[in-house]
Amino acid sequence: MSIISKDIQKAIAILSAEKLVAIPTETVYGLAGNIFSEKAIKSIFETKKRPFFNPLIVHIPSVDALESIVSYVPKKAKLLADTFWPGSMTLVLKKQSIIPDLITAGKNTVAVRVPNHPVTLSLLKQLPFPLAAPSANPFGNISPTKPEHVEGYFKNDINMVLDGGACINGIESTIIGFENDEPIIYRLGALALEDIEAVVGKVEIKNKKEVSPDAPGMLERHYAPSTKTFLTENISEEIKKHIGKRIGLLTFTSDLKNDVITSQIILSIKGDMAEAASKLYEAMHHLDHQNLDVIIAERFPDFGLGKSINDRLQRATFSS
Ligand code: AMP
Ligand code: MG
Repeated sequence: MSIISKDIQKAIAILSAEKLVAIPTETVYGLAGNIFSEKAIKSIFETKKRPFFNPLIVHIPSVDALESIVSYVPKKAKLLADTFWPGSMTLVLKKQSIIPDLITAGKNTVAVRVPNHPVTLSLLKQLPFPLAAPSANPFGNISPTKPEHVEGYFKNDINMVLDGGACINGIESTIIGFENDEPIIYRLGALALEDIEAVVGKVEIKNKKEVSPDAPGMLERHYAPSTKTFLTENISEEIKKHIGKRIGLLTFTSDLKNDVITSQIILSIKGDMAEAASKLYEAMHHLDHQNLDVIIAERFPDFGLGKSINDRLQRATFSS
């Protein structure tokens, strides 16, 4: 029997019994548990095989709920929260002592977000506790953007996937921390850098190795298909290196299908980066199940969501 269900009351019952439910968000599906239940939180790490040093994101129903989670909100954090929540932005702020160390991997900061999905907002509003929810995939694998992806990963491990359809944004939230009250991007994501800078001015990016391994989203190889994947600016040249193999192509707008290509996915024929981002992981899941020898991915223009997509492609691939 399928574990996918639209029954919010059932989700509330399972979560209240300290068990896990996969929840829909506008970024990716999350594997959720009560932040105050040690049993549930341990179970998140065990189910995902996620190392305990990787902290989790806390999901709250509104900006107002922030005050029960964090002890200090810099001015620019408040401005960002008021502008972009509910939305695809996670803020890392000083935690209150009630937030368990398991959630924060012992750090004195906690990552928190108001997700923008009607089903999960309704769930969060009815629950007496916030939800910790990392992406609902085994550690290092491609993140799930459809309930079926989660079912494929965890049907023997969890009781329920709360069905909220396909994730509209399709890549993880943008994570922003603060140093001396100034915002710093810890992970590029579904909210574009330019949109953030329009509100708070120039923002430093520490997306890569500097902060690793604090954040799993920062590991060099992450979000990865099991098929060997290459990222390139020059698809035709890359194809030549793999002639004779079963090749899959993942492009932004280019249509290069020919006899040597087994499978091709164009992420947005009209060149819309938001559309491309929303389809990215679904495309990776699909290509990864085509028995291919290699996947060749096209690098995106390096601005807007293209920057975030390139970040994910980079971590999925062996660059050439
Ligand atoms: P996931 O939900 O699987 O995308 O992973 C949660 C992300 O939030 C990871 O990249 C975490 O490292 C990051 N994160 C959570 N808490 C903190 C924190 N206190 N400081 C920095 N990054 C954090
Ligand atoms: Mg993840």
